[in-house]
Amino acid sequence: MISVITPAYNEELVVKELIGRIMGAFQDVGEALEVICVDDGSTDNTFPVLLDLKKQYQQIKIISLSRNFGHQAAYSAGLAYAKGDYIAMLDGDLQDPPELLPGFLNTLKEKEYDLVTGRRIKMPERSGKKLFTRLFHKLFKKLSGIQGIENEGNFCMMKRQVALSINSMQEKNRYIPGLRVFAGFRNYYVDYERNERARGENKMSFSKLFLLALDAIFSFSKWPVKLCLYLGLVGLVTVFGAVIYIVLSKLLGFAPLGWSSTMISLYFLGAVQLTFLGVIGEYVYRIYKETQNRPLYFIKEIVE
Ligand code: UDP
Ligand code: MG
Repeated sequence: MISVITPAYNEELVVKELIGRIMGAFQDVGEALEVICVDDGSTDNTFPVLLDLKKQYQQIKIISLSRNFGHQAAYSAGLAYAKGDYIAMLDGDLQDPPELLPGFLNTLKEKEYDLVTGRRIKMPERSGKKLFTRLFHKLFKKLSGIQGIENEGNFCMMKRQVALSINSMQEKNRYIPGLRVFAGFRNYYVDYERNERARGENKMSFSKLFLLALDAIFSFSKWPVKLCLYLGLVGLVTVFGAVIYIVLSKLLGFAPLGWSSTMISLYFLGAVQLTFLGVIGEYVYRIYKETQNRPLYFIKEIVE
């Protein structure tokens, strides 16, 4: 059986075309299919439209979350629920073409791979958000030190084993593309062009994307605390140099040490300390979140 997981948050305009295209793509595949639509607390008609579509296609299963938890949580709900031997993740806005999935499936079946990931070759629009995404991918690759993480998003198909590995990582700050690479297994990249979203507005606002990028960086990289340490060391060396200068100028009797230098160093040190208290605070907060051990999402209803 094949499971296709697709999150939808206020996607009433797209779901019909989405389901149609998924069904069309798998028409000739000749395997059992379940399409798991995770309604991530939509406030529009996404849920009724899905219910309606279900009358036409029994393969649809709807998981309706109790509120909006974000698409990483929605994917997590789908992954926990999926029963397939092959499990695909596909954004619900048709930016990633469902027509590629049968090809992914063939690769998994015929070659020695456990995971096929879509790699974006072209980003449409030169908007600020796209630029941000690209910058993030570059930075994340450097900072996380994860080998081989490329321009990948959620779009992928994996063998059940890989999905189980991802599910077994129970951390609350989830960045699934990172978890997927962390899990390992043999990964095959398929380059594809990411389309424009078919219809409707973007659901990942800039701030949501920014928070996701922070999740990714803080949970896969120790770089922020390392930066604290390095800047701290640089500060120490500078202070050391300053002390020598102060003592020398005192001994040689030139330039009374003035108010401005004191104030500047005061402000500078204060700012550096505050910044890194913030960094440490971020880690403390994350540890707190993990120990709270709250569920990632709550399910309101499942329609099989
Ligand atoms: N999504 C979701 N919950 C959210 C935000 C987005 O389930 O809180 C879904 C959305 O419906 C879409 C997918 O996640 O199917 C990707 O969202 P979007 O297209 O807005 O993100 P982008 O393409 O900008 O990464
Ligand atoms: Mg999108």
